[in-house]
Amino acid sequence: MILEMAASAYGPREALTDANGERTSFEQWHRRASQGASWLVDRGTTNVAYLGLNGSMLPTVMFSCALAGVPFTPLNFRLSDEQLRDHLEALGSPLLISDPRYLAKFGSRDQAIGSDEWLHQITEMNPLLDKQIEDDATAVVLFTSGTTSRPKGVRLRHENLVNYVLQTVEFGSADESDATLTTVPPYHVAAIGAVISNLYAGRRVVYLPDFRADEWLRVARDEAVTNAMVVPTMLSRIVDELGDQDAELPQLRGLAYGGAKVSQRVLKKALQKFPTADFVNAYGLTETSSTIALLGPQDHRDALQSGDPDALARLGSVGRPVPGIEVEIRDTDDNPLPTGTQGLIWVRGPQVSGEYTEQGSVLDDSGWFPTKDGGYLDKAGYLFVLGRLDDTIIRGGENIAPHEIESVLLDHNEVREAAVVGVSDDEWGQRIVAVVVLTEAARTTEEELTDFVRTRLRSSKTPDQFILATELPYSATGKLLRRELVNNLTTTPSVH
Ligand code: ATP
Repeated sequence: MILEMAASAYGPREALTDANGERTSFEQWHRRASQGASWLVDRGTTNVAYLGLNGSMLPTVMFSCALAGVPFTPLNFRLSDEQLRDHLEALGSPLLISDPRYLAKFGSRDQAIGSDEWLHQITEMNPLLDKQIEDDATAVVLFTSGTTSRPKGVRLRHENLVNYVLQTVEFGSADESDATLTTVPPYHVAAIGAVISNLYAGRRVVYLPDFRADEWLRVARDEAVTNAMVVPTMLSRIVDELGDQDAELPQLRGLAYGGAKVSQRVLKKALQKFPTADFVNAYGLTETSSTIALLGPQDHRDALQSGDPDALARLGSVGRPVPGIEVEIRDTDDNPLPTGTQGLIWVRGPQVSGEYTEQGSVLDDSGWFPTKDGGYLDKAGYLFVLGRLDDTIIRGGENIAPHEIESVLLDHNEVREAAVVGVSDDEWGQRIVAVVVLTEAARTTEEELTDFVRTRLRSSKTPDQFILATELPYSATGKLLRRELVNNLTTTPSVH
């Protein structure tokens, strides 16, 4: 068991730092989790849901469940009461351990306990140390973000998570001065991945539950963080916050980003502002226990320094599959496609679950999982993700990936954010609408933006209309909420 190994290897070293300054060592974490496990076993608990902000309570409850062999689900505190009740029902009415501030929502449930009260009760327990857990037992059930459909419960087994960590991290690779700043919400697979990968490496995790760019920079400096993980919208806000200044974080050695497509302009600026950091783009899904492909530090350096156009183009890719992961691009009849051809991304490997609570497994007979992403592989095996196929715009019978147009728009130096969506149209079936957030000093016009896209892409991919917005809707994990955007379209003014 990873926590037990880490507790004996790293002992009193600090493992978790909360936003309120509370600090937990590896051995305290292990002790608390094994007491928590004992408490769960004593009560005969078979299933636990957790509602709270990201902080040391997440890894404590998560590992109490892991040691007790009880499936664990962190829930999204931003959901409505009704959605939360739906999730609890879908999980089969688990015991809910909740931050006291959310507990009132579930006043009538006897299956709920405040996390402060739970922590208090477990201190009375003798640690549970020797329960055998089957590799194929469910470790966590996570709900997908629901960006394109209703959130689905994804079942990840212990072996999926263990394989994820073994393939991406080296045990004991961090030392006492290492610390990762994490801002991802607790209910996302990246938060689960961060707990186990930093634990295995022996690296302290610093939690910042509410992201604000100025706070992020302050905590990064105060806690002398050496690593950080962000989603692209956070990276863009940090770069904006810095303006003409450098980040002045000389101790930052690693900056991982992912979860959605990053703007090349923002990325190039970030590479300048964090000159000491190794950049990594991580691509993964809930169903694949987080990261399955990585664009590594050397790829980032080559893109900017080698002058090779292929290397520069690869800055827009998600890199190569991690060890143990195979990637195949297939057509709509599931036939593999040759290098360079666009199709649906399929993946296979021991960290891929592909199993849903309602639907069961969607793996094919040979264990391949169909992501919902379109993409292609280049001749060196770099994977380019073109976005969710559900987002594809069909204009006059032609399939158009919104990401391609968004990437071009984001290269315009007066465009801060861009979203491209399809809107019903009598003549074309769908027309292309680009919603843009411009920089403060922008002077561009619809004609100029149209020309900008037309000179870089085929004319059939030029937006039929531009709409000006002051902000775009994103999920807490940086995903553009396209459905919400389309629903709001009628109320916003066009670019003059
Ligand atoms: P739902 O399936 O309910 O719509 P979701 O797809 O938003 O939810 P997640 O598992 O959180 O659920 O997101 C995975 C998706 O995020 C991937 O399929 C891909 O589209 C996108 N993604 C993740 N990492 C990257 C990355 N580095 N670059 C580009 N896109 C990424």
